[in-house]
Amino acid sequence: MQEALDHTEPSSTDHSIISALREIAADPAITDSVIAEIEKRRDALDAVLDVTEATALSFSRVPDVYLNARADDVRAIGRQICFALVGESDVGLDQISAPSIVLAEDIGAWDLARAPLKLIAGILCARGGATSHIAIMARAHGVPAVLGLGASTAEVRTARDVAIDGGSGAVYLDPGIETRQHIEARIRAASAEEQALKAFKDSRPRRDDGTLVEIAANIGSIEEIEAAKEAGAMGVGLFRTELLFMKHATLPSEDAQFAIYAEAAKAFAPDPVIIRTLDIGGDKAISGIAFPEEENPFLGWRGVRMCLDRLDVFKPQLRALLRAAAHGNIKVMLPMVSTVDEVLRVRAIIENCKSELRGEERAFGTFALGIMIETPAAVLIASELAKVADFFSIGTNDLTQYVMAADRMNPNVSTLNDVANPAVLAAIEMSARAGVAAGIQVGMCGEAAARPDLIPKFLDMGLTELSMSPASIPRAKRCVMSHYQQDRPR
Ligand code: PEP
Ligand code: MG
Repeated sequence: MQEALDHTEPSSTDHSIISALREIAADPAITDSVIAEIEKRRDALDAVLDVTEATALSFSRVPDVYLNARADDVRAIGRQICFALVGESDVGLDQISAPSIVLAEDIGAWDLARAPLKLIAGILCARGGATSHIAIMARAHGVPAVLGLGASTAEVRTARDVAIDGGSGAVYLDPGIETRQHIEARIRAASAEEQALKAFKDSRPRRDDGTLVEIAANIGSIEEIEAAKEAGAMGVGLFRTELLFMKHATLPSEDAQFAIYAEAAKAFAPDPVIIRTLDIGGDKAISGIAFPEEENPFLGWRGVRMCLDRLDVFKPQLRALLRAAAHGNIKVMLPMVSTVDEVLRVRAIIENCKSELRGEERAFGTFALGIMIETPAAVLIASELAKVADFFSIGTNDLTQYVMAADRMNPNVSTLNDVANPAVLAAIEMSARAGVAAGIQVGMCGEAAARPDLIPKFLDMGLTELSMSPASIPRAKRCVMSHYQQDRPR
């Protein structure tokens, strides 16, 4: 087991995790119990799994968040010992060392956040769908991915060559010569179109009345800023901060967050950078926060709900955002809002953070506070929310799953999970009309914001900001300009 731990790539795995695991592995409470079980003539693997599971359960039952989080560490240690006993090694995405297509039943966002994405040539996964976070992260890094394959992953396992079309969701197993030629022609056509779209990079589309239509980037880390700028992003419309939290074993400090938010703000100033407060829960968990077992995590303790209960996590983020606001055009938005009260409570916490910072004589700025429209509740009370929010950003990934009652991770209901369904479009239009009537900006940061077939509809509903993965920006600019009959880049 020591060997298994030693072989873990130190550059890609947090040292703190490794040393925590080492300590647990050496704990006599575990080793003595395992030996005692083996002396009772029990199978060594069973003994290890039972003892580590019992220890993990005792960690998860104590009323201490730090100790709760150790439960997963103990289970990980149990797995490592079993691998060593059978002479095999665990495979983690962070151990990929050559260009590979990843084939999995399921992939955690936490695992993908720590993987060397440059070496991942494609992702095939039994679970999930086009708007699950694995798909979004893959898209952001230009990695073709097809999720929701279900039982057909077994068939993929038998193939020697695999080609993936992330756009259409097609997976070709051992393609013959004709199929290969067809795929290669499509790759050539896509790269020719990409070249042609570069002409739109510096365009700043406007409506006929002169209002700027901001085509912004969705990012999840500082490393993505360059690609966003290169693609011609007019700011950031969604900075998913939970990805920063997922990369580390412990929660990032206020100072570490401040440095990241300030760097993003400076990189795009004077264009806005919309930073979303932590949206943990649903299909995203992090190691520093213990989550209760939930029957329906997507209907559970996530987004602003969790933050309002965990001021020890929320306040450092808000303080970091206030401090970073002194360095550029930062706006802040709240995920998973479903009541006016949630927004008012966040406003009160922000005021409290400001007086703390004033007392500490720390420099800070102010920011516009917007909300995501992701729940049917938010749609139905959009005009009330528009009185307390400075802007709306429509999160179509969640809005679609909640309006259609069709889990964004469940391939069996992927036909229902369709943003173009009239019910979802009606919800988008209701929210947009309410925001426009109240005179606040309405934007969109769900995956639908990049769809050329839907962009004209969104513009007609009054949206003036669309945020998407950087690779989609030039096409969206062309689409907006042609909607307003400004066909040439300018
Ligand atoms: C959304 O729900 O549309 C959204 C942008 O948020 P996320 O995909 O991170 O849940
Ligand atoms: Mg969402």
